[in-house]
Amino acid sequence: MLVYKVVVGELYTNCYLAVDEKTSQTLIIDPGDNADKIINRILDHKLKPVAIINTHAHPDHMLANYEVKQKFSIPVYAHEKDKIMFKSGALFFGSMGYSAKISPDHYIKDGQVFDFGESSLKVLHTPGHSPGGICLYDGDKILFSGDTLFKDGVGRVDLPGGSLSALSNSIKDKIFKLPKDTVVYPGHGMQTTIYAEEMNVARELL
Ligand SMILES: [Zn+2]
Ligand SMILES: [Zn+2]
Repeated sequence: MLVYKVVVGELYTNCYLAVDEKTSQTLIIDPGDNADKIINRILDHKLKPVAIINTHAHPDHMLANYEVKQKFSIPVYAHEKDKIMFKSGALFFGSMGYSAKISPDHYIKDGQVFDFGESSLKVLHTPGHSPGGICLYDGDKILFSGDTLFKDGVGRVDLPGGSLSALSNSIKDKIFKLPKDTVVYPGHGMQTTIYAEEMNVARELL
């Protein structure tokens, strides 16, 4: 699997293109803004997008859902527990352009697998930063962690539906059970590894 990163929007969100090398089939993770920038990168590399997945329903991970979806005629997926975000989120994040237009077409569940070409990504439900937060794991050495785990820190829990205990459990029971050399691609900032973050997280919350 190849990973391309496109940094988008006011909060410098990482939109990732997870690409199956053999077929160029691509999952678009968190198209958070700047649809043109994302679309151009896809066209430049002649990628074949098959779906959009939101790691969670905060607007900085979703704002370009509609434009990218329309361009490539592909569906949008997010975890069902973030349905609540479309109500409370619209109130909280309305000023950022949160609207029904960017809502997912399908809801996903823990353990669900997305196959694209010869590659796949499995959904790990990791609530805490938001109720329906997910990570996506390739079963080997790549984890897309959304806003659950960053380089040098963990996701904030003070937004609607956030929970420190849930975040702590998600990181301990799911993310830290993966191989230590797994490369973590977070929703903001630089990539890291599970090995590198265990010390930070131990200090911060466990
Ligand atoms: Zn977030
Ligand atoms: Zn974010």
